[in-house]
Amino acid sequence: MENVIIIGTGCAGYTAAIYTARANLAPLMLSGTQPGGQLTTTTEVENFPGFPEGVMGPDMMMNMQKQAEKFGARIQYATVEGITKETDGTFTVKAGGETLKSKTIIIATGAAPRHLGLPNEKDLIGRGLTSCATCDGAFYRDVPVAVIGGGDSACEEAGFLTRFASKVYLIHRRDELRASKIMAERALDNPKIEPVWNSGVTEYLTNDKGEMRAITLKNLVDGSESELEVECVFVAIGHVPNSSFVSGLVDLDENGYILQTPGRTSTKTAGLYAAGDVADHFYRQAITAAGQGCAAALEAERYLAEME
Ligand code: NAP
Repeated sequence: MENVIIIGTGCAGYTAAIYTARANLAPLMLSGTQPGGQLTTTTEVENFPGFPEGVMGPDMMMNMQKQAEKFGARIQYATVEGITKETDGTFTVKAGGETLKSKTIIIATGAAPRHLGLPNEKDLIGRGLTSCATCDGAFYRDVPVAVIGGGDSACEEAGFLTRFASKVYLIHRRDELRASKIMAERALDNPKIEPVWNSGVTEYLTNDKGEMRAITLKNLVDGSESELEVECVFVAIGHVPNSSFVSGLVDLDENGYILQTPGRTSTKTAGLYAAGDVADHFYRQAITAAGQGCAAALEAERYLAEME
C-alpha cells in the first residue's frame, strides 16, 4: 500500500513528489506517455523565477526529476487506465497491466495539444503535422512551414522555427494575437514570420508519399479560399486536459478540466487531489502548476496524518 501515487511527471507532479518525498511519504510517480510533461517540448523558459538567464525546458524537468529522486521519489513508466475508490477509503490504480494500491492520489496529468479535427490529420502526424517545434523543427530546413494559432505557444513555436525554415506563416483566425505583448511583438518583428490574419485551415493537402505539401486556407471575413504551400504545419491552438481516465471520482467542467474545491486542490473524492494543467484552464503556467503540486502534496500529507 503506497502513501501517495502521483500521476504525471510535469511541473505539478515533480513538485508534489519533492514535497511528499521530503515528508517521508516515499511517493510513487507514474509517468504516462510524456515523461517530463509539456516543458520537455519547449525551448527556453524565461519566466520561471530563479533563472535570470532563462533555462531550457527539458533541462528544468531533468533537474526536477533529480531533485524528486534525491528525496526518495520512485518513478514508474506506466500509463494509468483507471482508478477506483475502495470501501476502506483507499484507491486501486490500474496502470500498464499492474494493479497498485494507495491511500492518496495526486493527479497531475496536464493537458495534450489540441488538433483541428480535419479528416486526414491522424495519418499526417509525423509526416508534416506536429505540435512540437522543438521536436520536429530541425527536419524542415530551408522550406516554408506554417504555425496555426495566436497565443504564446504559436509565437514561441514560430520564433523557434525561423532558425530552420525559409519562411514561417503564422495563421490566426482573428486579426490580433492573443499572446502576451512581449511574445507577440517578438513574433511580428521577425522578418521570417509572415502573419496570415482572419484565416482558418480547412484542408491538409498531401503529396504522392502522403506527406504534407500544402494547406487550404479560408479567409474568415470574406469566405475566399486559397492554397498555401508548406511542408510542415505546427498546430498551437491550445490543449485538452488529460482527465478522461478518472471519470466518476471527480467532476469535470465542460472542457474536461478537473474541478477542485475552490481555493484547494482537493476534489469531490476524499484523498484524491488534482494539480496543474489538468485542473487549471486559467493560468496554465509552469510556476502555477508547480505551486499547485506543492499545495496538493501538503493537502495529501495532512489527510494522511488525520487518517492515522
Ligand atoms: P492559448 O493561449 O489558449 O491560445 C490558443 C490559440 O489558438 C488562440 O490564439 C486561439 O484563437 C487559437 N485557437 C484555439 N482553437 C482554435 C481552432 N479550433 N482553430 C484555430 N485557432 C484556434 O494557448 P497557448 O498559446 O498554448 O498557451 C497556453 C498557456 O501557456 C497560456 O497561458 C500561455 O500564456 C502559456 N504559455 C506561455 C509561454 C511563455 O510565457 N513562454 C509559452 C507558451 C505558452 P483565439 O485567440 O481566437 O481564441
